[in-house]
Amino acid sequence: MNKENASSRLPVMSGKRPHSSATDGDQQQPALKKLRKVEAEGSQRFKSAISTVSAKRPAPAKATAKLRPTVAATVAVAHSRGDIKKTSVPAVVAKGGASRRPGWDLKGKVSDMENKIQNYQSRVKSVNQENENLKGSIAEVKRNEAEMQEENSRLKQRVRVIEEELNDLATVKNDLEKTSKERDGLQKDLKKLTDEHEVLQRLKCDLETELRNVQSQLSIQTSALSRCQDSLQESRERVKSLEETMAHQQDELHYGEMERRKLHNTIQELKGNIRVFCRVRPLLSNRDATIMHIQLPVHDNKSLILAKMEESHVGRNADTQKNYNFSFDRVFGPSSTQSEVFEEISLLVQSALDGYNVCCFAYGQTGSGKTFTMEGGDMDDMRGVIPRAVQQIFKSAKALGVHGWQYTFTASFVEIYNETLRDLLYMGKPNKRPEHEIRKTSNNEITVTNLTYQKVTTEDEVCNLIILANQNRSTARTKVNDHSSRSHSIFQLDIEGENIGRGTKCKFCVSASLCLVDLAGSERVQKSQSDGERFKEMTAINSSLTNLGIVITALANKESFVPYRNSKLTYLLQGCLGGNSKTLMFANISPEEDSFSESLNSLRFASKVNDCVIGTATANRK
Ligand code: ADP
Ligand code: MG
Repeated sequence: MNKENASSRLPVMSGKRPHSSATDGDQQQPALKKLRKVEAEGSQRFKSAISTVSAKRPAPAKATAKLRPTVAATVAVAHSRGDIKKTSVPAVVAKGGASRRPGWDLKGKVSDMENKIQNYQSRVKSVNQENENLKGSIAEVKRNEAEMQEENSRLKQRVRVIEEELNDLATVKNDLEKTSKERDGLQKDLKKLTDEHEVLQRLKCDLETELRNVQSQLSIQTSALSRCQDSLQESRERVKSLEETMAHQQDELHYGEMERRKLHNTIQELKGNIRVFCRVRPLLSNRDATIMHIQLPVHDNKSLILAKMEESHVGRNADTQKNYNFSFDRVFGPSSTQSEVFEEISLLVQSALDGYNVCCFAYGQTGSGKTFTMEGGDMDDMRGVIPRAVQQIFKSAKALGVHGWQYTFTASFVEIYNETLRDLLYMGKPNKRPEHEIRKTSNNEITVTNLTYQKVTTEDEVCNLIILANQNRSTARTKVNDHSSRSHSIFQLDIEGENIGRGTKCKFCVSASLCLVDLAGSERVQKSQSDGERFKEMTAINSSLTNLGIVITALANKESFVPYRNSKLTYLLQGCLGGNSKTLMFANISPEEDSFSESLNSLRFASKVNDCVIGTATANRK
C-alpha cells in the first residue's frame, strides 16, 4: 500500500507502463506456471497418497477423518490462487490507465516492481505455506500409512491368531463330535445296562423270595427228617424181627416144598407107575369125515371101541358088528391138540426134577403120529412132547432156584437101527463114526460108550441139539409112509440137582433121567412085500418091540429075571423101565379103516402094558 502510494506520487510515469506491464505479464508467466505445477504436483501426490491407501483397502473411519483437513487445506490453496489472480488483475487494471509508464517513471516502475515482488513474495509465501501444508498432509498420510500398515500387520496377526483359534476350534469340534458319538454309544449301553439291571433286580427279588421259601421248607424238612430218623430206627428193629420171622418161614416153606413133592409123587404112584395114553390121528385127506370103526364115548375120555363090521353067515343084510373095547389112562381123539396132550404128562415131567426116572415112548404103526406126538411141527402150537418137556424143565428149574435148587443138565440123543446104536449128536466125519456099546456102571447106571453127552443150560441149546439129531437121523422109504422112521430114537436128558439147604442143616441131591422115545413103526410086514434089507429092518424092529412087551410083562409079573438084554432098546431103557421109574406109553392109532388090524394090534399091546403095575417108584436121592 505504501508502494501504491509511492506510485501516485509519480503520475507522469504511470502512462508508459502498459508495455512493460505486458512484459511484466509475460515475466509473470513462468512463476504462475511454476506455482500451478507445484499445486498440480501436490494435488497429484495427495491423490496418489489417497489412491495408495484406497487401493489397498477402504480406509477405516478414523483414517478418513484424518484425511479431511488435507482436502480442506487444498481448497484453501485454491482460494489463495484466486486471490492471487484477483490481486494481479486489479494491479494491471488499476494501472490500465497507466499500464505503460513512461520510461522515465522509474519510480513508478520500481514501485510496480516492488508490488510485483510483494505479490510474488506473498505468493511464494502462500505456496510455501501450501507446500508446508502438503508436506504436513504427506507426513500425515505417511503416518496414516504407517499406522495403517501397523494396523494391517496387527490385523494380519489377529487373523493368524483367529485362524489358529479356528483350527483349534475345528479340532475341538471334531473332538466334540467324536465325544458326542461316544456319549450316544455310552448312553445306549447305559440304557441297556439299566434295563439289565432292572431285570436282575427283579430276578434277585424272585430268588430272594424263593430262598425264603426254600429256607422255610428246609426247616420243615429238617424236622421231618429227624422224625423219619426216629421212625427209621423203629423200622430197622421191625425189619430185624421180620427177617427172623422170614427165615423161620423159609424153613417152613422148604419143608412144605419137600412135603408137596412127596404128596405129588404119591399121587403119581397111586395113578400107577406105568401109564398108557391112546391117541387117534385125524384123517389126513378129509379131516371132517366120520371115522366109523373107532368110537370114542362122549363122556368117557378113557375108553375106545374098535368096531369091525363082519358079514353074517345067515343073510347078506344082517351084518354083525364086532366091538373091541379098550380102556387106558387117557384117550385123545383126532381133534385133540398138542397142548392138551402135554398138559396130561407135564406132572410126569415135573417128577424128573424131583429125582424120578421118567420114560415116555410112542408106539404105533408107521404114519400113526408118533413123531408128530413126540417132536411135533415147527409152529409154536404144533410143538410136541420133547420141546414142551424141555421148556418146562428149564422153567421149573429156574423157579426152584429161588428155593435153593441148582440143576445141571446133560443131553444125549441116540438112534437104534438094526440093533446098532448111532449117536445123533455126532458132529465128526461120517466115515469116522465110533462104535457104541451099552454099559452098566457099578451104580447100576446105564451109559453108552463114545456117545455125545452134551451139557446144556438153556432151552435153545436143547432145541439146536434136536435139529442136529433130525439131520443125523436115518430114514428109509417104505410102502406105508415115505418119511417113516425105521429106527428107534431116544432123547435123554440127565438131571442132577442139589439143594444146599439153609445153613448146614442138610444137603439134598437128586439125579434122574428123562427119556423121550420115538419108536420105529410097529407094523408087521410079510416077507414077500419087502426086499432083503427092508425085511432085516422089520425083523429087528419087530424083535425089539416084542422084547419091550416081554420086559414089561416080566416086570408086571415080578419075575426074577427080566430079559432087558435081549434087545438094545430094552437094555438102554433099563433104568427107565425098572421099579424106580415112571413110564408113559402113547399108543398112536391111524384112523384109516385099512389100518384096522394094525390098530387092533397096537391097542392090544398097549392094554397089555397098561395092565402092568411096575413096582413102586422111589426118588433117586443121595
Ligand atoms: P409116525 O412117526 O408114526 O410114522 P408121523 O408122526 O410122521 O407118523 O405122522 C404121519 C403124518 O400124519 C404126518 O404128516 C403128521 O404130520 C400127520 N399127523 C400125525 N398126527 C397128527 C395129528 N394129531 N394131527 C395132525 N396131523 C397129524
Ligand atoms: Mg415117525
